Formats: sequence, structure tokens, C-alpha cells
Amino acid sequence: DLVRLPALLDLVVDMFRMQATAKGLSLDYVADGRLPPFVRTDEKRLRQILINLLSNAIKYTHAGGVTVTVRYRSQTVLVEVTDTGIGIAPADIERVFEPFERGGAPDVALQPGIGLGLAITRALARLLGGEVTASSEEGRGSRFQLRLMLPEPMAAPSRALTYANVIGYRGARRTL
Ligand code: ATP
Ligand code: MG
Repeated sequence: DLVRLPALLDLVVDMFRMQATAKGLSLDYVADGRLPPFVRTDEKRLRQILINLLSNAIKYTHAGGVTVTVRYRSQTVLVEVTDTGIGIAPADIERVFEPFERGGAPDVALQPGIGLGLAITRALARLLGGEVTASSEEGRGSRFQLRLMLPEPMAAPSRALTYANVIGYRGARRTL
């Protein structure tokens, strides 16, 4: 799919607006610099990755807030979801990507979840040819990074997205 990244990020951030407000958290979306108008990737998978990261960020944050930033450089899209939440202990930072693993922080057991979100997120990122990594400071917050390597520099489609172009209709221009 040709995905309009800023529109997709807006949509996903809006999905969590009410949850953030209900917890008194800020929720910001910052596009840093110039983004390609379209990214060729699987929109459903990318949306699911963003939903998983944002739902965790809000679930495990009780003060402050969550910031989503997106950057583009050297054919790589970098999306960061940064929170000021409970954080993850160094011993848990890789474990949390394993299926059914939930961190050891006492607060985690109070939150609903079965420990699959990040395992799925990492698998989906790999299917898109990218990767998800985490860094965190216990008690201060976490940052999850999604890196998507784009197959080619994306410009807007060169031909106009007219109905005739999409279906490949040449009509009267065809020579027999
Ligand atoms: P679910 O399957 O519903 O997503 P979950 O949120 O517990 O359950 P994951 O999303 O896989 O599972 O996350 C695994 C664990 O990683 C969590 O249980 C939590 O301990 C830790 N974790 C994930 N995101 C964050 C975050 N933003 N801040 C602090 N801890 C986090
Ligand atoms: Mg989760």
C-alpha cells in the first residue's frame, strides 16, 4: 500500500486521545522535518504496531505523558513512542519482546494484559522489513523505536491517480 504516514499517525494518536485525557496524560505527535508523502508498506500491520506501542505507553504511564515523533532520514522512517511511565528494568528490556512475558515491575501485575503485544509488534515490524527496539530508565520512562527501511526513495506517484490510470485504461489513445 501507499501509506500517508502523517495521516496514519494522526489517526492512531486520535484513537488514544480519550484514554490519555482520562488519565490526565499529555499526548503529542511531532513530525520532525520533511516526511515522504507516501511510504510503501502494509498499512494494517503498521497501524497495529503503532496501536500496540501507544496502548502500552498509556497503560504504563500514570503521570506526565506520551510523545510520538516521526523522522525520516537516509531512506529510513523512524517512529519513536516516548513515555514518562514506570519504565522497564534493564534485566527485562529484551524479555518483554518474548511472548507471554510481562515485566517484573510490581505495577505491571495491576494492569490488564497477557504479554503478547510486543512479541506481535516485533514480528510485524520484521514482516515490514524493519525493527522495534526499546530503551528505558526504570521509574522514569520508556522509549520504543520503530525503524522502517524503505525500499526506494518515495515520491508521489508519477502518474496522476485518475481512475483511468488505476485500471490501466488507454481508451482512444490505444493504437491497433
Ligand atoms: P498485552 O498482550 O495486552 O499487550 P502487555 O501489555 O502486558 O499485554 P506487551 O505489550 O507484550 O504485553 O508488553 C510486555 C511487557 O513489557 C509489559 O507487561 C510491561 O511490563 C512492559 N512494557 C511494555 N511497554 C511498556 C511501557 N511503555 N512502559 C513500561 N513497561 C512496558
Ligand atoms: Mg501491551
